[in-house]
Amino acid sequence: VKIAILKETQPDERRVAMIPAVAQRIAKLGADLVLEQGAGSAATYTDDAYTKAQVTQEPDTGKLVADADIVLAVQPPSVETVKKMKPGALLVSFIYAQSQPELVKALRDGKITTFAMELIPRISRAQAMDALSSQAALAGYYAPLLGSVHMQKILPMMTTAVGSLRAARVLVMGLGVAGLQALATAHRLGAVCEGYDVRPETKEEAESVGAKFVDTGIDARGAGGYARELTADEKAKVRATLSQHIAQADLIITTAAVPGRKAPRLIDAEQLAGMKEGSVVVDMGAPNGGNCEGTKAGEIVKVGPVVMVGPTNLPSSLAAQASELYAKNIYNLLEQVLHDGVLKPDFTDEVITGTTLTHDGKITNAAILKVIE
Ligand code: NAD
Repeated sequence: VKIAILKETQPDERRVAMIPAVAQRIAKLGADLVLEQGAGSAATYTDDAYTKAQVTQEPDTGKLVADADIVLAVQPPSVETVKKMKPGALLVSFIYAQSQPELVKALRDGKITTFAMELIPRISRAQAMDALSSQAALAGYYAPLLGSVHMQKILPMMTTAVGSLRAARVLVMGLGVAGLQALATAHRLGAVCEGYDVRPETKEEAESVGAKFVDTGIDARGAGGYARELTADEKAKVRATLSQHIAQADLIITTAAVPGRKAPRLIDAEQLAGMKEGSVVVDMGAPNGGNCEGTKAGEIVKVGPVVMVGPTNLPSSLAAQASELYAKNIYNLLEQVLHDGVLKPDFTDEVITGTTLTHDGKITNAAILKVIE
């Protein structure tokens, strides 16, 4: 089979779907890989490095895609690109189908088999393919670093000849994959760390990375290990407990998410106004409407006393390793479906069926089908 590696076109996207070292491993599954010329350069992978890994290059997107049995990408490709794909070909990429109805229809009508990376089931067996987690871990690591450059304070305690500087107080709200990494990074940098979530099991996880857990007494465990939305009463309870912790923080990182919903609101205007002058909020919910009042996606704005940072693509800031992990996630997925150079997905396997968005002219994901048709 022929595998095409697309060049990303979104302006803030530096990642590439496949890196040279992993491409070599995929070739051993019986595949020829072709890179869209220059696709890896923003992520530090030069065309030369791909050539050394036996990956050939093609400058023309249309030609590259028309020839391919499998197309790899990070961000959802354009409808135009999909229309150039062969019927029956496989696309492996993030799709975010809920917000991409035209793209999903084009995939269906083009008889493309689509593996949507955000649909990989969150089960133990699929962990090595779980790109949401691999990218969230890096994003979480990066969030305190980004926040710290907007602070006019240092994170650790420091003793100087003219006295000591106190350690900064960092509060992380939402302790999933990203939030726990954010806490761990802030702790390693010497900050005094607190974490909060609505799933009780996160208490132990927060403590294991050196942070204190702010206990609101709420248990909002929902389906599949995710959180559910809070009731009005629960929100009031959280607010009462958290306001003081918010007011004391020098840096807050928010990561809260509820599947299929807008980002839950964790900090309102009044709480923002009560924060310290010069404190910083990094709102990782920014692409999804924001966890905080006043966040502007893709911007850094001052709201009252607070510098609000609204990053939209943190993994792209760590493109070299974000691409490495993503490429490994894809390798582990392709290893399930590529046998001796023949593409044979097993549609009785729950990982494959869970990940498949379109196949053979149909939208196969029930939740997306409901939204789109
Ligand atoms: P996510 O991105 O959906 O949400 C981030 C966090 O926000 C979650 O911890 C959630 O509980 C929290 N949250 C939601 N509403 C909140 C509110 N109002 N206030 C505070 N916090 C709120 O989560 P994720 O990082 O994708 O992980 C979700 C779960 O899935 C975790 O339990 C994680 O361990 C699990 N997981 C399992 C696997 C696997 O087994 N393969 C892989 C990845 C994640």
